[in-house]
Amino acid sequence: MISENLFNEAKKFLPGGVDSPVRAYKPYPFFAERAEGSKIYDVDGKTYIDYCLAYGPLVLGHANPLIIEEVTKQLKNGTAYGVPTENEIKLAKQVVKRVPCAEMVRFVNSGTEATMSAIRLARAFAAKNKIVKFEGSYHGAHDCVLVKSGSGAVGLPDSPGIPEDTTKNTILVPFNDEKAITELIKKEGKNIAAIIIEPVMGNVGCIPPKEGYLKFLREITAENDIVLIFDEVITGFRIAEGGAQEYFGVTPDLVTFGKILGGGFPIGALAGKKEFMDMIAPSGTVYQAGTFNGNPVSIKAGLTALKQLDSNFYSEMNLKGNKLRAGIQEILDSQNLDFKVAGLSSMFQIYFTDRDVLNYEDAKSAETDIFQIYFNKLLQDGVFIPPSQFECCFLSLMHDDDDIQKTLEVMENAIKTVKNSC
Ligand SMILES: *Cc1c(COP(=O)(O)O)cnc(C)c1O
Repeated sequence: MISENLFNEAKKFLPGGVDSPVRAYKPYPFFAERAEGSKIYDVDGKTYIDYCLAYGPLVLGHANPLIIEEVTKQLKNGTAYGVPTENEIKLAKQVVKRVPCAEMVRFVNSGTEATMSAIRLARAFAAKNKIVKFEGSYHGAHDCVLVKSGSGAVGLPDSPGIPEDTTKNTILVPFNDEKAITELIKKEGKNIAAIIIEPVMGNVGCIPPKEGYLKFLREITAENDIVLIFDEVITGFRIAEGGAQEYFGVTPDLVTFGKILGGGFPIGALAGKKEFMDMIAPSGTVYQAGTFNGNPVSIKAGLTALKQLDSNFYSEMNLKGNKLRAGIQEILDSQNLDFKVAGLSSMFQIYFTDRDVLNYEDAKSAETDIFQIYFNKLLQDGVFIPPSQFECCFLSLMHDDDDIQKTLEVMENAIKTVKNSC
């Protein structure tokens, strides 16, 4: 069956025809048949160079041969045990070795669970209720963080079904704004348990922190007994071996992971200093549990992924990212367009706005109608990016010079199409 028919069928059985909202786009999404390396193949016989990469996990590209090999061995030995395994220790040690703030780790099943548990832990540690999040940041789909959340939810009202009693303890501030945080803490500091932040905002496009901003947050939270949580579900193991905390040289109290850590399989994790992590059950009283926590297949995939993510990997990804971003900038310049190229390392996006994008309000000034024209043209010509202006595009190790060259040609055409329609 072709994608169009599959989508019509899917809508009868799955709300909106998909299992996660951002996947639905007009007129219908392509249905995947298979994927390998930098390419994804649809059921209609088309091939795309993939910069969505399952929304971030696949830094090594699709179907990494080593991961497939190791996971296949694991599958034959069982898929879930409900008892501990040695590989959980090995993966925890890898995390601790790489990540500055990590002394202990709890493995869970998704980034959502990781931030939910990290926030509970921070509240228990601080014995305070309020948390601070940034406008446009996304920390998964649980109640207390679904307030002005990024991703597909930009511009939409907050979800019904979330009691005000739950979100009244969530305070919003603009990203990259030292004054806003300083004033908030002056007023409310003694009630604030934690600040949770995506060190590079990756769910409203891509917004890096201003020089010194994360260091400022580290200092002001330490002075006011506020727990600093880095949500590194995107940046973890992507922008440096030790994630954003290594990249920017700022060590938070707690960190959350997901995406890359599972080597293409479902996973999440929270990690931090021992004094925090020892509060988690069963060594402490902060409850956290899961049937599939530490799943042996995800753990094996994660171990096999991390083995391949050494310092060479990170320098190569930086080069690829720089090359692609420079190429896009050149195209925009040659067309006399003042749209903004954003990103760092293997993350990138074009904002269809002439405003410098430092926070959610700036990002929202981007013209989503223009993005749609750009997206559709890329798709038509065999380049797949996430179908929203407010997602981030990703490179993998498997995107070679040919892919990047071809992509820039396709982008040039798409940008010319955009220009003609402006
Ligand atoms: C994707 C994401 C999450 C949620 O992870 P899931 O595995 O989808 O639940 C949380 N935080 C950030 C920064 C993310 O990008």
